[in-house]
Amino acid sequence: MTITVAEGPRLLMPGMANLQPGVERYRITGGAVTAVLLGAGDRLEVIDPEGRQPVEVAAFDRGGRSDPGLLGELTHDATAGPAAGIASILAGDQPDARRVADALADKGIDLGAATAVHLFAPDSPAGQVAWLTAAADVVCVVGVPGVLGRRMAPDEQDPPTDVIAFVHRTVPPARGLEVLPTPLADQTQDIRIDAATAQAYEVKAGEFIQVIDVEGRECSDFQCFDAARLDGGVEAALDATITRSLLGASYPMPGLYAKYYSLDFQPMVEIVHDTVGRHDTFNTACNAKYYEDMGYPGHVNCSENFNRALAPYDIAPRRGWEAINFFYNTNLDDANQLYFEEPWSRPGDYVLLRALTDLVCVSSACPCDIDAANGWQPTDIHVRVYPATNTF
Ligand SMILES: [Zn+2]
Repeated sequence: MTITVAEGPRLLMPGMANLQPGVERYRITGGAVTAVLLGAGDRLEVIDPEGRQPVEVAAFDRGGRSDPGLLGELTHDATAGPAAGIASILAGDQPDARRVADALADKGIDLGAATAVHLFAPDSPAGQVAWLTAAADVVCVVGVPGVLGRRMAPDEQDPPTDVIAFVHRTVPPARGLEVLPTPLADQTQDIRIDAATAQAYEVKAGEFIQVIDVEGRECSDFQCFDAARLDGGVEAALDATITRSLLGASYPMPGLYAKYYSLDFQPMVEIVHDTVGRHDTFNTACNAKYYEDMGYPGHVNCSENFNRALAPYDIAPRRGWEAINFFYNTNLDDANQLYFEEPWSRPGDYVLLRALTDLVCVSSACPCDIDAANGWQPTDIHVRVYPATNTF
């Protein structure tokens, strides 16, 4: 008997198993805009799930010139006209709108004079789909006009609603060219942690640390030390058992029970945002013994990567580091077995922490490629640090 294996789609983006390689999904909030870069031939699919929601799509060439013709021939329902809805959204005083407007201005794009393709109508039915094809490399701005929070007359039924857009790329982005989420504010540090490595970094009390899973389904182990006490030779590190005991939960989440504590019960970091909601505090960072036991002696591991990264701070090496294992998807079952599965994190998912004292931190991009912890494919982690003056 001959067994053949069918040629199937290859796993290129570990966190995006539900979409074919080269397909990206965007949700554009009603009353907001989203900008995407399209290459020549890329197709944009715009869906109005709830109906009655006009959409404007403006395309700009490298010179910042808008031209609806850059989006190919318009289908029967689409028309071209001034991008008044996009301009009005971006003229608002919301921080996100200002950031997009500034980014477009940096590219020499003048929205006041822009022309957009107008899709859908105030009376179009739910579930309408429109397709546009980029005729050249363009910056594409998709706007969903309307004013959120405005008082609505009962007979109007016109609050802005969310729109879904899919980008179908002719060439899937090469590894490492993935788009990181927009920074939450101006950054003081921007740290790329390459797959299967770890890095140490210092933050001040009040600063914010954003740990981003770049491609999805990648664990990032985190540990931190009180910097002032470290200067005195004391390794006051995070302690997961004390954190769980004080919380009465497996791990902190944004809200009332949001802090991680040190061995001496001092709050070290606070979770401010968490777009994933599944992490691990029961296991150490992965270590040499685990890989040996599984049949992979000498496998690179987060604990030894931590040791190397922390050596300049005279921190004693450990065979297995206590850590918060962000994005590591573990849980306890009814038979008290601690099990793990592929992470829930999608490309660009992140946790945002606030440092509660001056810290020496270390973050890893876990090298495990032998099981589901990283979806069998270790990828990069990206860390950003934002000043304490922000409010998130
Ligand atoms: Zn690891």
